[in-house]
Amino acid sequence: MTKLVDFRSDTVTKPTAEMRKAMAEAEVGDDVYGEDPTINRLEELAAEKVGKEAALFVPSGTMGNQIAALTHTTPGQEVITDPRMHIFMYEVGGLAKLGGVQTRTIETADGCYTPDQVRSAIRGENIHFPETGLVCLENTLNRAGGVVIAPERMNAVADVAHEFGIPVHLDGARLFNAAVALGVEAKVICEKMDSVQFCLSKGLAAPVGSILAGSSEFVKRARKMRKVLGGGMRQAGILGAAGIIALTQMVDRLLEDHQRAERLAVGLAEIAGVSVDLEKVQSNIVVADCGGWGKDVDSLIEILAKRGLMVTPFGPQHLRMVLHKDLDDADVEEALRIMSEVSRELI
Ligand SMILES: *Cc1c(COP(=O)(O)O)cnc(C)c1O
Repeated sequence: MTKLVDFRSDTVTKPTAEMRKAMAEAEVGDDVYGEDPTINRLEELAAEKVGKEAALFVPSGTMGNQIAALTHTTPGQEVITDPRMHIFMYEVGGLAKLGGVQTRTIETADGCYTPDQVRSAIRGENIHFPETGLVCLENTLNRAGGVVIAPERMNAVADVAHEFGIPVHLDGARLFNAAVALGVEAKVICEKMDSVQFCLSKGLAAPVGSILAGSSEFVKRARKMRKVLGGGMRQAGILGAAGIIALTQMVDRLLEDHQRAERLAVGLAEIAGVSVDLEKVQSNIVVADCGGWGKDVDSLIEILAKRGLMVTPFGPQHLRMVLHKDLDDADVEEALRIMSEVSRELI
């Protein structure tokens, strides 16, 4: 059988041996009663990392974002997003379905609204208008190819929102990729965010879970919202133990993924029929435009999978490739070899 090299997502990472050991040995209790010491330790550590008063362990990033929206808004309000954001595009319409809110999408050039864009999207006093209830940001922005947003730009957006008393939520599924790419601590990125969600289960390699952090008052209400969604878990410390290792040991190595993404991107750009916007390769994600091969993306996925290269469709002729802990230099070279071979065949 051909060996598979799996570039589909950083969600495919398996827990480390150390995580499995910590999980097996975790001290646990009933977390709905607040009695799981491992979860309490994880939540404290996570809050500290993002510079917030409190944090909540949730089963997934999607639930973390949805809880944030539900906690910040009331039905009938409007939520500002970029149409490429996960909370708008990939959460099954949860904002409308669960929160009863509508979205106001603002197209941005490079993943972050300008302060003026936000100012003009915030609704005024007119009796006909919905109220603006929340502004969303995403860093790194997956659909833009994992681009990193500078904290100064996020702060400028938050300043405008706060002027109108509107909270700002950061979908930081890959917050630590952003932090490593910028060379700053995660809490610098989150400074003016009223809430932040980040994934333990992506590049940080934990098997399950995300964190939602904010003020103590916000997290208290979010905890109740998690319960109504069925996300209150009992001896969750078994999962939380892996989360603690994710946060304490798996952050610095993300830089390796970024370096490999760079190598992959440069290699792909040299292949006939493939183009890559190298300026947008800023973290662990590479988007390859295979327009020169004259095939639709679904056929491409199939052709590549047959040769052992697994990637994600990302547009009519675009492939997304994500670097992560379970891919090494040899896997990058193997991916480039397969892509070159397919290029020779198709052109
Ligand atoms: C993966 C992801 C999420 C959701 O995380 P799940 O754990 O898969 O629900 C949210 N936002 C972004 C940007 C993501 O990449």
